[in-house]
Amino acid sequence: MERLQKVIAHAGIASRRKAEKLIAEGKVTVNGKVVTELGTKVTPSDKIQVNGIPLQQEEQKYYLFYKPRGVISAVEDDKNRKVVTDFFPHVEERIYPVGRLDYDTSGLLLLSNDGEFTHLLTHPKHEIPKTYVAKVKGLPSRELLKKLERGIQLEDGKTAPAKTKMLTADKRKGHSIVEITIHEGRNRQVRKMFDAIGHSVMKLKRERFAFLTLHGLNAGEYRELTPHEVKKLK
Ligand code: URA
Repeated sequence: MERLQKVIAHAGIASRRKAEKLIAEGKVTVNGKVVTELGTKVTPSDKIQVNGIPLQQEEQKYYLFYKPRGVISAVEDDKNRKVVTDFFPHVEERIYPVGRLDYDTSGLLLLSNDGEFTHLLTHPKHEIPKTYVAKVKGLPSRELLKKLERGIQLEDGKTAPAKTKMLTADKRKGHSIVEITIHEGRNRQVRKMFDAIGHSVMKLKRERFAFLTLHGLNAGEYRELTPHEVKKLK
């Protein structure tokens, strides 16, 4: 979200002050409605017109990022912690994360300035499969993992069917590595699901989002999605 006058100025058609004047004079519309309020916030998907001419909003960008642990899935933080966009210093567009990963979770996170794309991919009805690898306390039994697969009652309702796979069970160290694929994106969902079966998550990484993987990237690195990948996601 940016202030309307900033977006107009950013598009290169007027200075910030001139943009403010245009707004105050009623020459600017947002999604077909005249806006005269200077503080109005807009997103890249809002349709802005100045004097009846559509504002060329910035090019739509799509990135696949390998988020390290200890980074906030946001564009700014009031406590000055590291945020995902700190890893994109040379990207001029106002990109923001598509959904979020917890501060302590690493892995695949998409970023874009395309609001419709973000809305589409984060809407629960699209049920995009997301695969996580979780290091959990203890050795969950096959029965308990089946329970996760069938659905767990959380405070905001039962979770949708999931898939799990035991990757390693280390009896001596007392922890296991479990792969889990879910189709929702509730707050701290994977952690809550494992909490519910008594095997808390010690470490969590998202390895896949739909057909996308982290292949070729190290933590903190990103790449642009190809046009073909973007099309396939939509
Ligand atoms: N589930 C979680 O618990 N945390 C994440 O970051 C993502 C899914």
